[in-house]
Amino acid sequence: MDELLKPLGDIWNGFLSNPIVQVAGQLIVIYAVLLWLGTAYWAFRDMQARTENPILPYFAAALIIFFTPLLFLFAVILYLILRPRETLAEVYERSLAEESLLAEVEKNQLCPVCRDRVEHDWLVCPNCRTRLHRVCPSCNRLADPAWPLCAYCGREFERAPQRPAERVAAAAPRPAPTDDRSDLAADTRLRRATNPNP
Ligand SMILES: [Zn+2]
Ligand SMILES: [Zn+2]
Repeated sequence: MDELLKPLGDIWNGFLSNPIVQVAGQLIVIYAVLLWLGTAYWAFRDMQARTENPILPYFAAALIIFFTPLLFLFAVILYLILRPRETLAEVYERSLAEESLLAEVEKNQLCPVCRDRVEHDWLVCPNCRTRLHRVCPSCNRLADPAWPLCAYCGREFERAPQRPAERVAAAAPRPAPTDDRSDLAADTRLRRATNPNP
């Protein structure tokens, strides 16, 4: 058996002592080390993009370094599982999208008196006949009844017409405020409308 293995061992030793094989082996080791260090730097930068915590990026790099050039791929898998799901840019984008959605919801105005949904260009609330806008006689655009002059063309209105909203709002108790945001916005508008000089 030994006599059978001996030539195989000789061939193997000869293969290893070949200078080309030795250079190739060294290159592979250098490449693995570079890959290891590069991955540690990638984890550092990746964590920087995902958290504002100044220490966590160093932990991410240390995790890769700790697993040595031989096993760092296991650390990469661990890191990919544990890292924050979203980057800070993605979080920012999502909050922007949510804000624009909220603005979209607030654009759906409510009648200040009966709280029915009204369109932004309606003159009168069809439900309670509250005057929502007046038409500027000069430029024909819609003006808020509380404005003393047209915001678009600057024409002075002689006298703001008596608003049914003011009469009704003064006579009837205001509905109980709720936590709903659009209700809150409508409430703010109502307060602004009923009290032009806060
Ligand atoms: Zn109404
Ligand atoms: Zn006008």
